[in-house]
Amino acid sequence: MALADESRYASAIAAELADDVLDRLLRYVRIDTQSDPESATYPSTAKQKDLTELLARELRELGIDDAVVDEHGYVFASLTGSRGPTVGLIAHVDTSPDESGSGVRPQVVHYEGGDIDLPGDARRSIRPGESTLLAERVGHDIVTTDGTTLLGADDKAGVAEIMAAVAYLVRHPEIEHAPVRVGFTVDEEVGRGVLHFDIAKFGASFAYTLDGAKVGEIDDETFAASELRVRIYGHSVHPGTSKGKMVNSIKLAAALIERLPSDRLSPETTEKREGFVHPIRVVGGTAETTITFIVRDFDAVQLKQHEQLLRELAESIEAEEPRARVVVEVEDSYRNLKEFLDRRPRIAEAADEATRRVGVEPVRTAIRGGTDGSVLSERGLLTPNVFTGGQEYHSVEEWISVQDMAISAAAIVELVKLWAEPDWAVPPEAS
Ligand SMILES: [Zn+2]
Repeated sequence: MALADESRYASAIAAELADDVLDRLLRYVRIDTQSDPESATYPSTAKQKDLTELLARELRELGIDDAVVDEHGYVFASLTGSRGPTVGLIAHVDTSPDESGSGVRPQVVHYEGGDIDLPGDARRSIRPGESTLLAERVGHDIVTTDGTTLLGADDKAGVAEIMAAVAYLVRHPEIEHAPVRVGFTVDEEVGRGVLHFDIAKFGASFAYTLDGAKVGEIDDETFAASELRVRIYGHSVHPGTSKGKMVNSIKLAAALIERLPSDRLSPETTEKREGFVHPIRVVGGTAETTITFIVRDFDAVQLKQHEQLLRELAESIEAEEPRARVVVEVEDSYRNLKEFLDRRPRIAEAADEATRRVGVEPVRTAIRGGTDGSVLSERGLLTPNVFTGGQEYHSVEEWISVQDMAISAAAIVELVKLWAEPDWAVPPEAS
């Protein structure tokens, strides 16, 4: 289809990229790559390799001879540049286990306002009242599914945008740009996206994940996160003869849950920059019960305070029932991305500048969650997260605008061009 109506693009690069990025998205979303949290293998599902193998082949067909799928299923590939630091571009190929990713039938709708009907399920439509950004996308070409599966723009939009940007740079050898390392990962949706990611082998000076949402948004902050387990040991006795002896750990666990604040500090009562404690699992019996909490905040000091609140609740339970024993264990999950990115602010600033160059004013945003970038940054590869344009992720109402994808792909091109410019191409340690 002919989408390259230049007047609708703020960037000539975006206009040139639109058809290719759409073709790629439509091709990639038809390949089922759902990951599986219950699996013990890596990647968690072998079918993710159906896409990683295809991507490696497509990269080799572009003339990128070193494109390979490694033993963990990651695709690594290099694009030679003229000067500057090596810029990593990362996206994940798997889709969320929340909704089916099998038999995806994408449709492209030229959007003129109102609801978008999903042909596979008459009860479902995408409504501008619920998905509010849609009202601002009148005149765009919108990709959705038929309503029976997710689309998988999370994160195949990121994959398609990186691929289209790389193909563009290959087609235009006259354009000066920094060296690029491409990394496509697996199992992001089940929290193991970079478990085996070899930063040294990847060899980038820093990187960007293309796994964000609204055009213009650069995520430079994530939650800091820990997991806290309260183990309550009671005393089990035959219930017929337990008077004065039994200590039921289930009831003590219920008492602890009951003491959590009801109007604050929970996911269901907080937003924006507020943190929370959140019981996610209770496992046990009379003799022993374990409550698992996740604890979240943008501020590391506040995170410790939330953990302390849970410790105090646990102590109060033990103080009231001295025959019980209550043990608290805390495990750090990930830290706020900003803690690391602030050491070299130029990395996120470059993403801002690239966004401006495609005609969009950048907005820095904080994710109420983590990204693969938070883990990579902690391990030494500083990695902010950049918009892909996708909306309503992990649902059958997922959608993405072709024009927004083209803007994201064009921003990637501008980003790697920018890092070859004298102002930016200084050694990253000095930036
Ligand atoms: Zn994602």
